[in-house]
Amino acid sequence: MKIALITGILGQDGPYLAKLLLEKDYKVYGLISRYSNPNFSNLDFLGITDRIEYMQGDLTDECSLINIIKNIRPNEIYNLAAQSFVGASWDQAKLTTETNSLGVLYLLNSIKLYSPETKFYQASTSEMFGNSQINGEQNEDTPFCPRSPYAISKLYSYWLANNFKESYGIFCCNGILFNHESPIRGKEFVTRKITDAVARIKLGLAKEIRLGSLDSKRDWGFAGDYVKAMHLIMQQSQPDDFVIATGVNHSIRDFCEIAFKYAGIDDWEKYVVIDPRFKRPADLFALKGNAQKARKILGWEPEVSFEELVKMMVDADLNRYKK
Ligand code: NAP
Repeated sequence: MKIALITGILGQDGPYLAKLLLEKDYKVYGLISRYSNPNFSNLDFLGITDRIEYMQGDLTDECSLINIIKNIRPNEIYNLAAQSFVGASWDQAKLTTETNSLGVLYLLNSIKLYSPETKFYQASTSEMFGNSQINGEQNEDTPFCPRSPYAISKLYSYWLANNFKESYGIFCCNGILFNHESPIRGKEFVTRKITDAVARIKLGLAKEIRLGSLDSKRDWGFAGDYVKAMHLIMQQSQPDDFVIATGVNHSIRDFCEIAFKYAGIDDWEKYVVIDPRFKRPADLFALKGNAQKARKILGWEPEVSFEELVKMMVDADLNRYKK
């Protein structure tokens, strides 16, 4: 039986990945920080809370990581933990850097010293490309040009994973994932913010939604599809980096329109207020990934369409509020 350690187990991707690995008969450990009240709601949503063994530790606490890795010597570590909200990374740049950059250094040092056979997956991000493009798309050869403290912190880890691979022969891979969403996406992220507001407006619990822009375009996929790519990346004979994306992008306006109309609100624009407080100091105009390498080498394909994703999220939020 393979053993996996997932950091960020309480977030969005952690539960989807854990479910996939449990289905493949892995023993799954989840790293959780010390909370007086840990929030298991995302794992509950997928019905797997009791099937994971929790290890207390924190990415910013090197000793806790050493102890865990030394004790369980996992076959695979999926590092999904992060301060992952781009918007917060300007206000909390130090926390973002300590978690997303130094945390990865601590993990990799622990692997190098105590479990060098462990394979390591780093959750890299399309944000590292900034506005840089080749033919209107981003792939593994597109130059990086990060535009937020978040993207910069992730770029450090991207290079660190590559450096530990080259310097010490550790099996380190980067999944450069474009935006992926689900019904358990954090409510601060624009997609979930929209579907949550649509549900509340529909049920008479709210009157408006405030957004920074409707024009930014993102390549949005479904988290359940993307964790399959993470696992495939780790099963290759050689460690490598892969862009994971749908290859289609949509504006926030498109997302709003589908979400509101699906809930039966056709005159949706009157509920949307553009609020400069939500504008970012530096934003990305359009992200669109080219995942040809993943399609060819991993045989990976996204299964859930953009429209299906939006509807799935609206349904889930409507159900939550109806309950
Ligand atoms: P998420 O929902 O924000 O989950 C991240 C998890 O990391 C949270 O459970 C968080 O715990 C935990 N965490 C934060 N700081 C920690 C620390 N110091 N020690 C231990 N755990 C800590 O993110 P996600 O959407 O699942 O994304 C997973 C990873 O993929 C992240 O690294 C993200 O940056 C990256 N990524 C995501 C996307 C996307 O579109 N979702 C795209 C590209 C890359 P708390 O909840 O307690 O803070």
